[in-house]
Amino acid sequence: MSAATTNTASATGTRVLVLNSGSSSLKYQLLDMADGSRLATGLVERIGEATSRLSHTLLASGGAPGTSRTREAPIADHDAALKSVAAELAADGMGLESPELAATGHRVVHGGQRFTEPTVIDEAVLAEIERLVPVAPLHNPANLMGIRTAQALNPRLPQVAVFDTAFHTTMPEHAARYAIDVRTADEHRVRRYGFHGTSHAYVSRRTAQLLGRDPAEVNVIVLHLGNGASASAVRGGVCVETSMGLTPLEGLVMGTRSGDVDPAVIFHLFRVAGMSVDEIDILLNKKSGLLGLCGDNDMREIRRRVDEGDDTARLAFDIYAHRLKKYIGAYYAVLGRVDALAFTAGVGENSAPVREAAVSGLDGLGLAVDAELNAARADTARLISPEGARVAVAVVPTDEELEIARQTYALVSPEPARE
Ligand code: AMP
Repeated sequence: MSAATTNTASATGTRVLVLNSGSSSLKYQLLDMADGSRLATGLVERIGEATSRLSHTLLASGGAPGTSRTREAPIADHDAALKSVAAELAADGMGLESPELAATGHRVVHGGQRFTEPTVIDEAVLAEIERLVPVAPLHNPANLMGIRTAQALNPRLPQVAVFDTAFHTTMPEHAARYAIDVRTADEHRVRRYGFHGTSHAYVSRRTAQLLGRDPAEVNVIVLHLGNGASASAVRGGVCVETSMGLTPLEGLVMGTRSGDVDPAVIFHLFRVAGMSVDEIDILLNKKSGLLGLCGDNDMREIRRRVDEGDDTARLAFDIYAHRLKKYIGAYYAVLGRVDALAFTAGVGENSAPVREAAVSGLDGLGLAVDAELNAARADTARLISPEGARVAVAVVPTDEELEIARQTYALVSPEPARE
C-alpha cells in the first residue's frame, strides 16, 4: 500500500505535529514546514503510573530553548496524555484546532511489506497496522493508541503514518529473505524488514547534500549508533541492505541487544540452560549488548572505564567496534563503490573513539578519519575524513522528527516543504 492508493488530504496550514507514542510515553514536536523551524517540543513519561510527568518546551525563534513547563500528576492513558499535550499547546496559542496546523505525523514502527511510503491514515490503514501487531508486539499497539487518540481529538485533521520500515522496503528480495523454508517464512511473514528507516533516509540524503551532490548519484553506508543501532547500505538514495531484521534484534552490538548470534544459541539456552523462551527474549533484548558485556550501556561511561584501564569495558568496546567493522566491509562489498560513510545518533554523533576504531585499518578501502576533525565537537553535519580521501567519512546529526514532518507535509500540502 502506498500513499498514492490511499485517500489524499489537503491542508492550508504549514505546521505539523509529530507524535511518537511508546508503551508508556508520548514524545511530540510541533514544526513549521514553511521554514522547517521547531515551535514546541515535549514528552509525557510514565503514562498509566502515579508518577506521570509532562515536560513541555515552547521554543524561541531559531529553535533556541524558550520557556519550559513541567507538570507532575497521574496521567491514566494515552488519551489523557494527548489531551494534556493539546492543552499545553493551546495555552501557547497553538492548539490542535488551530488553522495553521496541517496534519499530525505519527511514527509507526512496523509497516510490513505493504507500507512503502508515508500514508494518510484511514480505517483500512489502521486495520493493516493492527494486522502487523504480531511482528511488532511492543510498538504497533502503542502507535495505534496514539493515532486513535489524535483522531478523536480532532477528526478533521489529516493523520499521516510514517513507518520505520518503509525506507527499507526497496531492499532486493535476496537481501530481505532469510534462507529458511519459503512457505513457513511467507505464512508467518518472517523476513528482514529493517528499522530506523526514517533516520537512514534523512542521514543518507543529508550526507549527499554535505558532499554537494545529488542523492541519486551517491552511495552511502549509514551507521545509526544510538542505544539501538543499525547500519544501512544506500545506493543512489535507495536502501539495498540493512542490519536489523524481522525485529530490531539482528545486526550490530547495541546498548542492551546482542545483535547477531548463532540462532542455535537460543536452542542451547532453552535445552541446556533450561531457560524459557520469554527469559531468552529478555536476555537477548534487554540484558545483552554492551550492558551484558560490561554492566554499562552508556558509551560515555564505557569510555571512562576504558581510560581508567578497565579490561572488561575494553573488551566490550572492542567487540562493539569489531562488529561495526565487519558491517562496513560487508556493505562496501554490497555497494561495490562507496562515496561516504556517515555516523549518526547518540554514539555515532558524539563518540570520536568509536568512529576512530570502526575505520582503523581500513585505509586500503579508502576509509580513514583525520584525528583533529574527528575529535572536534559540533552539532552540525561535518566531514571528518582527511582532505582528498577516496571515501568521505561524515558525522551527520539525525533528525527523525523533521523527516517525519517533512514526509507528512509533502503528503498533505500542495506546497513543497523547505529544508
Ligand atoms: P540515542 O538512542 O540516539 O539517544 O543514543 C543514546 C546513547 O548515545 C547513550 O546510551 C550513549 O551510549 C550515547 N551517547 C550519548 N551522548 C554521548 C557522548 N557524549 N559520548 C558518547 N556516547 C554518547
